[in-house]
Amino acid sequence: MFRCVCRVSVAGHVARWLSQLADQKGFVRHIKKELLNRFYCGKREVKLELSRLKVLFVLTVVLVLAVAPIQVCAVKPESSLLKGAYRIDTNGWYYVHLEGDPYQIGYQHGYLLADNIQESWNACIHVYWSESSFGDWWYAAREISYTYIWPKVPDAMMREMEGIAAGVQAKGYEWDVLDVVAFNAWADIDAYWKVWEESQKKDEHVSLSHIEKGCSAFIATGSYTVDGGIVIGHNTWAGYAGDGYWNVIFDVKPKNGHRIVYQSTGGCIWSGQDWIYNDAGLMVCETTLPGMGTYNVNGIPVFVRIRNAMQYGSSIDKFIGTMTYKSNGAYSNEWLIGDAKTGEICSLQLGCYTWDIERTYNGFITSCNYPKGPNVRSETTFNWHTPWTSSYSRNARWNELKAYYTANPGLIDCSVGMQFLSDHKDTWTGASEASSRTLCGHCEAETNVRPGDLPDPSGAYDGKVTCSALVQSEMGMWGRWGHPCGTQFDASVFLTLHPEYSWQLPYLHDIPETSVPWTYFTKDMTP
Ligand SMILES: [Zn+2]
Repeated sequence: MFRCVCRVSVAGHVARWLSQLADQKGFVRHIKKELLNRFYCGKREVKLELSRLKVLFVLTVVLVLAVAPIQVCAVKPESSLLKGAYRIDTNGWYYVHLEGDPYQIGYQHGYLLADNIQESWNACIHVYWSESSFGDWWYAAREISYTYIWPKVPDAMMREMEGIAAGVQAKGYEWDVLDVVAFNAWADIDAYWKVWEESQKKDEHVSLSHIEKGCSAFIATGSYTVDGGIVIGHNTWAGYAGDGYWNVIFDVKPKNGHRIVYQSTGGCIWSGQDWIYNDAGLMVCETTLPGMGTYNVNGIPVFVRIRNAMQYGSSIDKFIGTMTYKSNGAYSNEWLIGDAKTGEICSLQLGCYTWDIERTYNGFITSCNYPKGPNVRSETTFNWHTPWTSSYSRNARWNELKAYYTANPGLIDCSVGMQFLSDHKDTWTGASEASSRTLCGHCEAETNVRPGDLPDPSGAYDGKVTCSALVQSEMGMWGRWGHPCGTQFDASVFLTLHPEYSWQLPYLHDIPETSVPWTYFTKDMTP
């Protein structure tokens, strides 16, 4: 068990203490109002603007803290809701097992990962959506979630998110269910941002940054693999500061539906990376399609569709049906899907109103943020002809590997999958040197081969591989936190060379903190 001391909790306890002592009820009401206003969204960075009354309040707090020790964050006794749940910290990962009804699963989630949730949220806001850039952003995110997203969330997911909020609160953090919904909807928010702005009748338009994660991924089956079953692998690309806390592997055993394993960050009921499989043998990952900005505000949020698809889906047909039904266009991806039961694999490039599908029982499908299908190309602004882009170069490298493994069948297994994800061949330069154009992305090592290709602290920060046999026998997978090749991102070395990124501190940190190997996870793991 861990305990926290947080600013909000101090304020809450002091306020209660003051309310017991103060004679002037008006003063107490004012203090409470001030606290409510100030900590309405308790996670926002707030600045103390000291009016005379506030000075009196602060002095009182200082005096109280000086003369009387206060238990600032009384952790509630562990709840029976936690029965069966556990967390294992290993090699940079947090592995959590959750089970029960939706509220139980949510409570376990919030309670076991409260520290990760708070830190991940802080990093996300600091790096992607700072208040200085987007104004009172979290207030808007909560409103969008309440107005446009909450009505489209099924009851079971509502209960799960309420449970998360309760679990995080039990650890002393100030979260409510709308905070949880808004955090889950990070990929959906910009789909509703414009319509929300118009509803506010604001003259000023603030363009919300569209978050696009990058990834390299593959799926192979039939004659391409050692045992004829499916092998699937994926690494996630994003900024190391903003995404540096997405090191959680969830093993969720719900009362209804399939048991699912997914990688994400604390607070999220879906992956978002995406890396996810279920006990029906459905194995899924994706890479984001770039330049996709077509939205349908009447569509279903992507986090709802993908969670439904994996918890209740057992076939590729069902997956395609769930994901394409009322797509809202948010987080348009190329989804790679495998069915361990049949050996069939599939690519679903899904835009807002269009999609492209490729399916086979004998093939090697690769993906790297590169729109290939004619339908999704009609919805993107991305130029897929430019050979020095990361997407184009990696697609060219995948084609080289595909040609080799077509000529040399029966070789792909999990260990070869790890090599794919760790690959440093740059098809633009021809060198074996990690960069933004290699399957194992190292944008921090960009060598400025073209003007404007400057290093930045982003790239592939994880690797995951599994196969039909492992998923079907024990829900197993291999994962490595940090670059799949094992090279550590050293934040202090990078910042010495590029102090212009020091604004990302304190969230820009070493990934991983120490050198770590590939780690095997299975449903039979126990603390
Ligand atoms: Zn690498």
